[in-house]
Amino acid sequence: MKAGVIAVQGAAPEHVQALEAALADLGRKGSVITVRRPADLEQVSCAVIPGGESTTISKLLLRSGLHELVRERAAEGMPIMGTCAGCVLLAKEGDGEVDRTATKLLGLMDMAVDRNAFGRQRESFEAPLDIEGMDGPFPGVFIRGPVIRRMWGSCKIMARHGDRTVMARQENMLALSFHPELSGDLRVHRALLEMV
Ligand code: GLN
Repeated sequence: MKAGVIAVQGAAPEHVQALEAALADLGRKGSVITVRRPADLEQVSCAVIPGGESTTISKLLLRSGLHELVRERAAEGMPIMGTCAGCVLLAKEGDGEVDRTATKLLGLMDMAVDRNAFGRQRESFEAPLDIEGMDGPFPGVFIRGPVIRRMWGSCKIMARHGDRTVMARQENMLALSFHPELSGDLRVHRALLEMV
């Protein structure tokens, strides 16, 4: 299996490492590539949209032709995980900041997000999360992450921090406010690979 990490901007290398380790953990043969062009995305059977700056990532996805292809591949059922900025981009609805910055969302998941809902960079924190279907707390690393404010349709809550939704799943797609690639815990990356 070939897994892809969208690498137009943001924190791709950590996801590449986590996916490689998760593949090894699962005893699956495969490789992980970075995705910068549509031809890269054609080769993979699952993909991660990493954290970074959602406005910048959205512009580069449009410019590279990846925006449309991500939407097509998601509609075909390819597993996709968006973390932090990637979570913002998967949403159908943003907030005032998304509007003001003319950030073009991929609009794939039935959810509305608020960017930067957990404050600034220096307010980054780690908190244990109970993730649906996982035994034992997952170390959630939050760095200027969004909150999933509202869900509808077939989008389901996977984890909360306090009363805020920080992880959701809709069929083949996972959205996370936090950074599993920085946690040293491979369970979320394994779950993505197991969806393939
Ligand atoms: N605040 C960023 C955004 O909304 C996301 C931060 C991150 O991905 N670590 O684009």
